[in-house]
Amino acid sequence: MSTPETFTVTNPATGEQVGTYPVHTAADVEERVEQARLAQGWWADLGWVERKRRLNRWIADLGQRSDEICELAFREVGRPRGDGQFELIAGLEDVRWAAAHAEKVLGGKRVPPGLALFNFDAHVSYPPLGVVGVIVPWNVPVYTALCGLAYALAAGNAAVVKASEIAPGGTVLVIEAFYRANPDAPAGLVSWITGFGDTGNALCRSGVDKLAFTGSVPTGRKVMQACAENLTPVLLELGGNDVLIVAEDADIEAAADAIVWGGVFNGGQACVGIERVYVVESVREALLAKVKAKAAQITVGLGDTDSYGPMIVPSQIETVRKHVDAALAAGATALVGGPASVREPFVDPIVLVDVPEDCVTLTEETFGPLVVINSVPDTDEAVRRANSTPFGLGSSVFSADRGREIAAQIRAGGTVINACLTFVGMPSVPFGGVGHSGFGRFHGEDGLREFTSPKATLAKRFQLGPDMQSFPRKPEYFEQVRRMVKMRYARRRGV
Ligand code: NAD
Repeated sequence: MSTPETFTVTNPATGEQVGTYPVHTAADVEERVEQARLAQGWWADLGWVERKRRLNRWIADLGQRSDEICELAFREVGRPRGDGQFELIAGLEDVRWAAAHAEKVLGGKRVPPGLALFNFDAHVSYPPLGVVGVIVPWNVPVYTALCGLAYALAAGNAAVVKASEIAPGGTVLVIEAFYRANPDAPAGLVSWITGFGDTGNALCRSGVDKLAFTGSVPTGRKVMQACAENLTPVLLELGGNDVLIVAEDADIEAAADAIVWGGVFNGGQACVGIERVYVVESVREALLAKVKAKAAQITVGLGDTDSYGPMIVPSQIETVRKHVDAALAAGATALVGGPASVREPFVDPIVLVDVPEDCVTLTEETFGPLVVINSVPDTDEAVRRANSTPFGLGSSVFSADRGREIAAQIRAGGTVINACLTFVGMPSVPFGGVGHSGFGRFHGEDGLREFTSPKATLAKRFQLGPDMQSFPRKPEYFEQVRRMVKMRYARRRGV
């Protein structure tokens, strides 16, 4: 037997080698999917209550290992332990919510059969899909793995998870924790695979019953193409270019706080990070002064109290550099930082103002600690500009009185009023995007239904009038049905 190929994971800030993982081949992936298929029946047969109990055991195991998980993220990518805790909590809340609500949401229900067919009983059930493939990015590898698994497992599916080649440790750890908490679970019910794009591609082509992908737009396109071969349905959680609107009646202190935290949290390497701010001119100067003061308090490094750590992928540093240079060349002004803030592998906070709307800095996702603040005459113009991007993941509005009115006009998967990013930690509401930010939802009732195949079961109770689904047609039936059509449809009702 040949030795499997491996790759080594190295901390971007210290160069420390943190782990070595196999490059799984298409044959390995196929084997995992087959194993998952065999194990899935056991899991589905456990029923709601027993699955919930086992998912809660998993949460307890992960809770006990929270320090280990945060330490691993710190060693692997230099993420401050506080950010590691934030990520873990968000993921655990997903598992808890999905486990607690699966029966209520997916347990099946009788529905009204409608007047025309009231001789039937109608029932909707939500059986699991079977085996779900989950592909995870590097920026939040614990959260995205837990998020995909929470809803897929609570619905009764098995899952094969492709970890990111940049940060596989956290993903592998959470899956192994499932077996520590449930040692009797059959092998392969939940499993991890590691490797690069080819391994992910093999999972897309493996015949899984759904593929939940979290990552960049270009890879999302490839995933969708590969899944099309077997008509495998996909859920795509892709990039963002999130906006924050500051209205004239906003709490400026709170808005500035959200801009700085939401813009540079995790070094800006967050799909829902704030990248674009539109502030109404009358409060522009007050906002800029607050943002500048707050950004001055940020420290970047590997200390426990540092605000965030290194850029995790070298190509992201180049993107930040390109976006800063492009904006300044196009006439923008640096309010905080500038080209010198890019000191590899760390990037200090950068806030640019008056960036032309067609500049790449605004039209593309930066995925770094860079925020643009542009001023607008009013909130109508802010909304117009907010919606002028193909992305639409999260968004925020700061306004004392008009938050809901403005939020309703923003084209995005979610909007937070007077705060930011909150939907990540609130599993009861759907989470996902529109346009280039993807489609399908994690979280909430919609997130649970994503991993099921809704099924209608109709039972005839008695024969009602002429049977239109039977031969031979009797001539008198035509007249009876004609009268019924006139009575039911020909009258103007509600017009
Ligand atoms: P990426 O697209 O480069 O990689 C994501 C995963 O896809 C990795 O595991 C990678 O190995 C795998 N992959 C690569 N090529 C593949 C292929 N051809 N087929 C199948 N899988 C393949 O993304 P990334 O750089 O790891 O993550 C950053 C991106 O993820 C950003 O754009 C960010 O906005 C996005 N993101 C979105 C969300 C969300 O919820 N919408 C959350 C986190 C990150």
